[in-house]
Amino acid sequence: MTKVVLATHNPHKIAEFQQIIAMTRPDLEVIGYDGPEPVEDGVTFAENALLKARAAAELTGLTAFADDSGICVDVLGGSPGIFSAYWAGQKKDATANLELLLDQLADIADPHRTAQFISTIALVTPDGTEHTVAGVWPGRLSHEPSGANGFGYDPIFIPDGQPAGAERTTADFSSEEKQSQSHRARAFEAFVPLLQAI
Ligand code: IMP
Repeated sequence: MTKVVLATHNPHKIAEFQQIIAMTRPDLEVIGYDGPEPVEDGVTFAENALLKARAAAELTGLTAFADDSGICVDVLGGSPGIFSAYWAGQKKDATANLELLLDQLADIADPHRTAQFISTIALVTPDGTEHTVAGVWPGRLSHEPSGANGFGYDPIFIPDGQPAGAERTTADFSSEEKQSQSHRARAFEAFVPLLQAI
């Protein structure tokens, strides 16, 4: 089996990638990356995903993937964006991040609370060829947290396309429901042709 490396220490992400790769390229074996993580000093999701994939490809000599994701709020000019994980400080406190964002938008009415979850996947082959794909999940921010599932900003993100009056946050979604339509699912969809090509 040809080995490919996923540049993350997050077991949840390794499982998600293994699942999609098993469906599209069962001849590839996804292994986790146990090398040092580079400083993520890129200024876009794509640059940061590439930094991680490049470092893993260089260290292992294998084809490497990495992803980078976050939430982008229109009225904030696309922030938190690449700063999503530590919007309220370097301690990376998910509750503090979400509370700060709600506080910043306290006076903003529903039509102006539009936001997107974005996921970017980078692929780097040992010969230095680089590709990135992205998935976008549009929606808006709620006024208060709701739901117990998911992580990060899920309790305050209401995806578009739900029946009026019965809208739920992605933390109200089951994990299957979220995984079938999320930004990561959309990025995976765009990633399949890349996988088929390697
Ligand atoms: P990373 O791609 O694991 O570095 O994630 C960046 C940050 O974006 C996370 O810490 C979350 O705050 C946020 N984020 C990314 N994807 C999601 C999601 O599916 N739900 C909620 N928050 C997310």
